[in-house]
Amino acid sequence: MQTHQYDVVIVGAGGAGMRAALEAGQRARTAVITKLYPTRSHTGAAQGGMCAALANVEEDSPEWHTFDTVKGGDFLVDQDAAEIMAKEAIDAVLDLEKMGLPFNRTPDGTIDQRRFGGHTRNHGEAAVRRACYSADRTGHMILQTLYQQCIKHNVDFFSEFYVLDLIFNEVDGERRTAGVVAYDLASGEIHVVRAKSVVFATGGAGKVYKTTSNAHTLTGDGMAIAYRRGVPLEDMEFFQFHPTGLAGLGILLSEAARGEGAILRNCDGERFMERYAPTLKDLAPRDVVARAMANEVREGRGAGPNKDYVLLDLTHLEPAHIDAKLPDITEFARTYLGIEPYTEPVPVFPTAHYAMGGIPTTVETEVLADNERVIPGMFAAGEVACVSVHGANRLGTNSLLDINVFGRRAGIAAAAFAAKAPWVELPESPEADTVALLEGMREREDGERIADIRRALQETMDANAQVFRSEATLKQALADIASLRERYDRASVQDKGRRFNTDLLEAVELGFLLDLAEVIVTGALERKESRGGHFREDYQNRDDVNYMRHTMAYRTENADGGAAVRLDFKPVVVTRYQPMERKF
Ligand SMILES: Cc1cc2nc3c(=O)[nH]c(=O)nc-3n(C[C@H](O)[C@H](O)[C@H](O)COP(=O)(O)OP(=O)(O)OC[C@H]3O[C@@H](n4cnc5c(N)ncnc54)[C@H](O)[C@@H]3O)c2cc1C
Repeated sequence: MQTHQYDVVIVGAGGAGMRAALEAGQRARTAVITKLYPTRSHTGAAQGGMCAALANVEEDSPEWHTFDTVKGGDFLVDQDAAEIMAKEAIDAVLDLEKMGLPFNRTPDGTIDQRRFGGHTRNHGEAAVRRACYSADRTGHMILQTLYQQCIKHNVDFFSEFYVLDLIFNEVDGERRTAGVVAYDLASGEIHVVRAKSVVFATGGAGKVYKTTSNAHTLTGDGMAIAYRRGVPLEDMEFFQFHPTGLAGLGILLSEAARGEGAILRNCDGERFMERYAPTLKDLAPRDVVARAMANEVREGRGAGPNKDYVLLDLTHLEPAHIDAKLPDITEFARTYLGIEPYTEPVPVFPTAHYAMGGIPTTVETEVLADNERVIPGMFAAGEVACVSVHGANRLGTNSLLDINVFGRRAGIAAAAFAAKAPWVELPESPEADTVALLEGMREREDGERIADIRRALQETMDANAQVFRSEATLKQALADIASLRERYDRASVQDKGRRFNTDLLEAVELGFLLDLAEVIVTGALERKESRGGHFREDYQNRDDVNYMRHTMAYRTENADGGAAVRLDFKPVVVTRYQPMERKF
C-alpha cells in the first residue's frame, strides 16, 4: 500500500473536475484522481453546446435564462443556485474563450450561438439563440482546453486510478473528511490519499439503464461511495431521457440537430410536436418531447417495421449546413444505422441521458450531511452533484455550463478550506473495507457472471422505471433489484489477477449501480406525482402541495445486517418565480 498527501484531492477529470483543479491548482497542492485518462471523460462526448446569455446573436438576459431553467426544471430548481449559474455563465464562456477554446463564430467575429430546447426570449415568447458551440464537438474542446491548462498549472494526475472509498474521521463528535482510498488499475495496488479537501466530480450514472447515451464507465461511483458512507442523495428519481437516441442503440444524436431545424415526425409524416407544444414545438424541454414521442409509439403512430420509434427529419436542411454544424452526429447515423441523413429521416427514440439528482451541495459546492449541516472538507460538482440547478428536468446545454460554473466554485472553495483547516487524522486501516470488498470478489469461485446480472438490472430499469412509471412497474423493479442483489452476492469474477483487472472493477461498479437503482426506484415510488422527467401514469399531475420538495435518500442498516433506503425531504429554494402550469 502507498500513501500520499495533498491539500486538495479532486476525484474525476471531466469538465467539473478539471475546472476545479485549475482553480485549486493555483492556490494549493492539488491532485486529480481519475479512473479514465482525463480526455476520455464523458464531457468529451458532449456535442451540442454550452449556454450563456451573451446576446451575441439576438437580445437575451441572464434573468430569462434563470426563468427558463426554473420552468424547464418544473419548479424543483433551487432558484438561488439557478440565478448564480445564469449570471456566471457569461464569464464561464469568456474564460474558456481566453484559454483558447475554438468556438464557432458569427461573420463579425463574436461567438456564434444556436437554439436549444426550452431556452426562450422574454419568459417563453419564442426560442432564443443561447448555446455557444464548437460544431458538434463542444465537450471535446472543453476537455482538451481544460487539460492543457491543468498541466500548465502543475496539477498532479493519477490516471487510471479508481477511487473506491471516502475516508471520514470523527473530530469533536463531528464527521470530517480525511481523504480517499484508490486502486491503481495497472498494478492492482491500493493507495491511501490523505487530503484536507476532497472534491467529488465523478459524473453520472446512465449505466443503470440499458438504453443510454452514457459511456460504459458512467456507473455512478461517486454517488454510491458517498451514499455508503452516510451522505444523502438528493432527487435521484429524476432521470432525464433524451428524446433523440439512435433507435435500438441509445447513442445520442444531439438536440443541436433540432436547434438547427430538424423536425420530429411520426409514421404519417406528421410533425406531431405541434400538438404537444404549439409554441416551442420540437424545441420544447426534453421531458415533454420524450413523453410525446413515447406516446406516439404507444398510440400506434410509430415508424418502422415494429412501429417502435419516430423519425428525425433533416432532409430539408442543406447538406453543406449539416456538414458545417452537425458533422459528427450525422456520421453516427451513417455508421450505426446505415442511414443517409441528407436524404433519409433518422430513426430515434428516448435514451437515458442525465442524472438530475446526486450528492446534495450548497451553492458553494459544500456537501450536505442533512438538510442543514455540511460535511467539513467535502465538496462535489458536476453531474455527480445536485446543487440543484436542474430540478426535475435539465435544459440542454445547461450541464456544460453547470460543470464550468460549479467546478470553478468547487476548486476555489476546496482550496480556501484547505488553507485554514487543520489536518484530520486518518482512522486506523482506512483501506480495510476496500481490501475486503475486492478480495471477497476475487476469492469467490464458480459464481454467476457479472455481465449477466448487469444486463438484467438494466433491462428491468428500462422496462419499469423509464419515461412512463407506475406503482406496479416500480414495485416490479424493486423486487427485481432485491433478487439481483442476492445473485450479486454470489457472483464471481473470472480474472483473478492483479494487473489491469477490469473484470474485478466492473464487479465493483455493478455494486454501485445496484445501490443507485434501488435509490432511484424507491424515490420514484414515493413521489406520487408527475414532474419533469418523472412521469407516473397513476398520478399524472404535478402536486405542489405534497411534493414541491426535494427527496433526500439515506442508507440505513437493517437489523439483519442488510441495507435499506430511508427517505426524507428538503424544501425547494424559491426566490422570485412561483410555480405555474408549464405550457410550451
Ligand atoms: C453523449 C452526450 C452528449 C452530451 N451533450 C451535452 C451538451 O451538448 N451540452 C451539455 O450541456 N451537456 C451535454 N451532455 C451532458 C454533459 O456532457 C455531462 O453531464 C457533463 O459533461 C458531466 O461532466 P462531469 O465533469 O460531471 O463528469 P464526466 O465528464 O463524466 O467525468 C467524470 C470523471 O470522473 C472520473 N471517475 C468516475 N468514477 C471514478 C472513480 N471511481 N474513481 C476515479 N475517477 C472516477 C472519470 O474518470 C471522469 O474523469 C452530454 C452527455 C452525453 C452523454
